[in-house]
Amino acid sequence: MRQLIIAGNWKMHKNIHEAMEFLQELRGKLGSTPVEAVVCPPFTALAPVAEALKGSNIALGAQNMHWEKQGAYTGEVSPLMLREIGCKYVILGHSERRQYFGETDESVNKKVKAALEHGLVPIICVGETLDQREAGITEQVVATQTTGALEGLTPGQVAGLVIAYEPVWAIGTGKTASEKDAQQVNRYIRKVIADQYGAAAAEAVRIQYGGSVKPGNARALMSQPDIDGALVGGASLQVDDFVGIIENSL
Ligand code: PEP
Repeated sequence: MRQLIIAGNWKMHKNIHEAMEFLQELRGKLGSTPVEAVVCPPFTALAPVAEALKGSNIALGAQNMHWEKQGAYTGEVSPLMLREIGCKYVILGHSERRQYFGETDESVNKKVKAALEHGLVPIICVGETLDQREAGITEQVVATQTTGALEGLTPGQVAGLVIAYEPVWAIGTGKTASEKDAQQVNRYIRKVIADQYGAAAAEAVRIQYGGSVKPGNARALMSQPDIDGALVGGASLQVDDFVGIIENSL
């Protein structure tokens, strides 16, 4: 059985003070749950958030990283730095990074390999744009992104990953893929993985859905057999919404 994983991607929101207030409230409201909860604050809040999460059942993730351990890469953060702070997860290849910061399947692949090498679990984002969906090439797009991101990994490494299927047209728009459409794409991603890495890796890998997930649609989405959690943007910024999504996922 795959454990559900609900990760909050705060994007470029919350200063340290706001993050501390959020976590205090979250720890008060989130009881024990079989769902794995993760928060992914901006880099500036990672260290204080790591402190505030000590002794809790909430894991820490970053939103990006460079693939090198160290070096002359102004403005970048390395996998070792994230590990030192206490990150367990790192979001890689988010569509906003692909769209605004030139991330490619090749750079995502380098980051995935570096994350695994340094003991971080990548949450790899894939998903089609509206034009691509309307052109009927959703499967082709997610297959290319998935195989590109996983290039060179072993089945054992693939088994431990998290993949987030995030249709770009559903991110931050209030439009959610229907549970049927999301299930169909998630199942297809699992098939792509099974074809390349075998049934055991495909059965083990966790595949989230992301795109305007809210407390009201969490249950329908999470009850699909190939949806193993959610990557949540906007609704992860309010404690009641984030807790509502986690509670409604079961
Ligand atoms: C995201 O950015 O990963 C995301 C899913 O955002 P939202 O939930 O706001 O659509």
